[in-house]
Amino acid sequence: MTTTDTAAAEAGRDFIRDIVQADLDAGRYKAIVTRFPPEPNGYLHIGHAKSIALNFGIAQEFAGHCNLRFDDTNPTREEQEYIDSIQADVRWLGFDWGKNLFYASDYFDWLYEWAEGLIRQGLAYVDDQSQEEIRLSRGTLTEPGKNSPFRDRPVEENLDLFRRMKAGEFPNGARVLRARIDMSAGNINLRDPVLYRILHAHHPRTGDKWSIYPSYDYAHGQSDAIEGITHSICTLEFEDHRPLYDWLLDKLPVPSKPHQYEFARLNLTYTLLSKRVLTRLVADGHVAGWDDPRMPTIAGLKRRGVPPTAVREFVKRIGVAKANSVVDVGMLEFCIREELNRTALRRMAVLRPLRIVIENYPEGQVEELEAINHPDDPGKGTRKIAFGRELYIEQDDFMENPPRKFFRLSPGNEVRLRYAYFIKCVSVVKNAAGEVTELRCTYDPATRGGNAPDGRKVKATMHWLSAAQSKPAEIRIYNQLFARPSPDASNFAADLNPQSLEVLKDARVESAVAESNSAEPMQFERQGYFVRDGDSAPDRLVFNRTIGLRDTFAKEVGKS
Ligand code: ATP
Ligand code: MG
Repeated sequence: MTTTDTAAAEAGRDFIRDIVQADLDAGRYKAIVTRFPPEPNGYLHIGHAKSIALNFGIAQEFAGHCNLRFDDTNPTREEQEYIDSIQADVRWLGFDWGKNLFYASDYFDWLYEWAEGLIRQGLAYVDDQSQEEIRLSRGTLTEPGKNSPFRDRPVEENLDLFRRMKAGEFPNGARVLRARIDMSAGNINLRDPVLYRILHAHHPRTGDKWSIYPSYDYAHGQSDAIEGITHSICTLEFEDHRPLYDWLLDKLPVPSKPHQYEFARLNLTYTLLSKRVLTRLVADGHVAGWDDPRMPTIAGLKRRGVPPTAVREFVKRIGVAKANSVVDVGMLEFCIREELNRTALRRMAVLRPLRIVIENYPEGQVEELEAINHPDDPGKGTRKIAFGRELYIEQDDFMENPPRKFFRLSPGNEVRLRYAYFIKCVSVVKNAAGEVTELRCTYDPATRGGNAPDGRKVKATMHWLSAAQSKPAEIRIYNQLFARPSPDASNFAADLNPQSLEVLKDARVESAVAESNSAEPMQFERQGYFVRDGDSAPDRLVFNRTIGLRDTFAKEVGKS
């Protein structure tokens, strides 16, 4: 991001908002109308969140409205499951389309009538060439295309054939309707683009009424015009389609003339945001589903415990620019940490438990110690945690032969158990394989609460849990789905991170965690942020790690 982009984002302004403001100042529109037009052929991802925040955000800020419009022009790829998930995800992000829910398929009759109108004006024709022939005769960036041998068909013949296409007389692919523009246009999109193709397919909303379906380019602008969209905001790859967008609006008797504006799509390091790839990841079983917490989908982020506020903050920070760039995924992680650090309750969990026995603590005794729920927010209160003779600590908080700077537990070394006591390791128990299975320790009863009356210091404070009072849990640790910063979309399987999911089956969580049914993420102290997964059952707790605690991105920003 350049400095200007950052400044604009911080001010909540960008070039599109400037255009909207200028249009309002000049009195060109009474009210601003935008739209978010997903094709229901997959789940929404974080790139869509950028577009959603932009379209709904502008509508909110300028007291207009934003339509949710399903671009359902390809019934072979689209499904109700996707329609439902898209609505749920837009709502989860915090946006509301109110009554303004539309489908491009609602406009199929108009689109058809207008296509006949183009034919009558000599501006469209039925082409009998195959898809391959059309492709080959389209030319290249340096060579003009060739006119189709069917280009000069008489109007009556075109009308007759188009009506028979609609009536279902011809098989898929037999003919198409093309706009009659200019096969030598510098912009390839103007070389007689396809407006309609034959597709004998059942449509979820229009059933078997249609045997022909409009192309994206033909349906999109006209849907905008029908809905009275003022600013049709899309991603940069549609910039070259704008002349066609304008040509169609110009030739058709549409009720309004929207303008198209393009912005840079979101790209993220270690992430692929193409629906084709995401669909394959799910279909080929590389992930557990569209809502797998490793997926960059909204459903995946939600299941991972990412708060919608963090997603909104992220898209606000990256801003809206005209040039494509790749955003460091660390920026998203930074926004998630920042939000969760502020909101998440602190709890204790031991991910990889090592049993310790406090030899001088009475057998069978349990006492309750007070722990705070949030260090910066006393209003969040305190809770009790049970302490006893047998405890768990984290395996890597102990080393039998520590290097010089290791201050956590080691034979003879004293450490603090958070909220509890100072303990010392007196001996190490091992199994036949020589692995440490248990530590024998002693505690100092005078250090209750975590401080020594004699003022002696320890260099480490560790989390812990009572063996008897904590509960078992499965904890799923997620890492980047891809191992390389810019995974190859055409061969993505080769770039998958084999360590993207680590499942810890023997973790322990404190009873306050086990008893809470909350869907809010918590901080497991010294470990990161975690959220209860929907796979949990009363006798089986499952948590997803939303994100670790370490904040590498902030450090790098600090350096530069
Ligand atoms: P894909 O190219 O992966 O198939 P798409 O862009 O075709 O995705 P749509 O459902 O058509 O998916 O997208 C709906 C809207 O979201 C479009 O206006 C599109 O421009 C926008 N969008 C899609 N991906 C991104 C992204 N990475 N960043 C910003 N906006 C995006
Ligand atoms: Mg699309």
